[in-house]
Amino acid sequence: MKPVQEIFPLLNSPRHVVIVPHQKPDADALGASLAMFHFLKQFGHTVSIVSPSNWAGWLNWMPGSKEVIDSDLHKEEADKILDRAEWLFCLDFNAFDRAKNLSAKLEKLTCTKILIDHHQQPDEKSFDYGISDTAKSSTCEMIYDFIIASGHGDKMNKEMIDCIYAGVVADTGSFRFSSTTANVHRLVADLKQRGLEHMQVHNELFDNFLENRMRFIGHVLLNRMEVFYEYNTVLLTIPKSDLLKFHIKTGDTEGLVNYPQSITGIKLVAIVIDRDEERKWSFRSKGDFDCNSFARKYFEGGGHFNASGGRSSDSLEKTVQKFYTAMKENKLLLQ
Ligand code: 5GP
Ligand code: MN
Repeated sequence: MKPVQEIFPLLNSPRHVVIVPHQKPDADALGASLAMFHFLKQFGHTVSIVSPSNWAGWLNWMPGSKEVIDSDLHKEEADKILDRAEWLFCLDFNAFDRAKNLSAKLEKLTCTKILIDHHQQPDEKSFDYGISDTAKSSTCEMIYDFIIASGHGDKMNKEMIDCIYAGVVADTGSFRFSSTTANVHRLVADLKQRGLEHMQVHNELFDNFLENRMRFIGHVLLNRMEVFYEYNTVLLTIPKSDLLKFHIKTGDTEGLVNYPQSITGIKLVAIVIDRDEERKWSFRSKGDFDCNSFARKYFEGGGHFNASGGRSSDSLEKTVQKFYTAMKENKLLLQ
């Protein structure tokens, strides 16, 4: 994988560009994709964003989101666009298997593949150009760096500013996580000088839900939370019946995993959601507990040191039993 800076001189020659975020793109993945989309269009490139799946409806305020193609819903159109691609940007994921239904298709493409991502263990051999930096707070921060380093900071318009800021806020836990460096604050200061209206973005990200989601959160924290003080661990287990009862949609469960972190002394929070196709895990830790290794070892997953995810094909009961065992095996690391 050659350094991503090597594509800067090529930016001025219009191409067919396709941008792909990870499966179920979150604010960082979608924000990064849209910021890159709005940036590249200004050079005359033909740019499309193809998402491997749907995304949370509450992200639809992001400028340009209507143009994102959900390849689950529009497979033929997505395939056609991907077949035409001369450049493929993979943003906020670093191995094709994180693109789920699109992974085989992406692997087969022979176009130039470019990676911009901040997760651990990148599959660098699959990409021609790229940057992978786990020290970065978010892929949106990396897109900002890319734009500034390319010498085209003047192209940073309102759409890009909103998308980049949203991804940075989301992935830093509103500037809380250790990944929030001085550079992140400098980026925000710069975006502010360029016209960022941060209250508007916060409002879209955090104050834009329906009543059912709030009632669901209350129910989960009251009835679905187990606290294991001996292991400084909290587990939230969400059966399918809860998702149906509260009319929960993609994205409504995001952020739930953060609530138990406010209990004094808690080091690891896990949440498992009984989705149709799989049991989906999310992990968050504080301090020196490595969620990435934990997710890789026990739940076919990965991510960052303090935030990761995984999956299981087992039943909800079985995968929860596996978690109990894993937690016990990690007792010393959780002290
Ligand atoms: P979340 O819990 O917010 O879904 O994900 C936390 C972090 O872990 C994100 O950076 C996400 O990309 C990563 N992640 C989530 N699920 C998986 C997974 O199944 N495999 C891998 N490799 N990473 C994941
Ligand atoms: Mn990210």
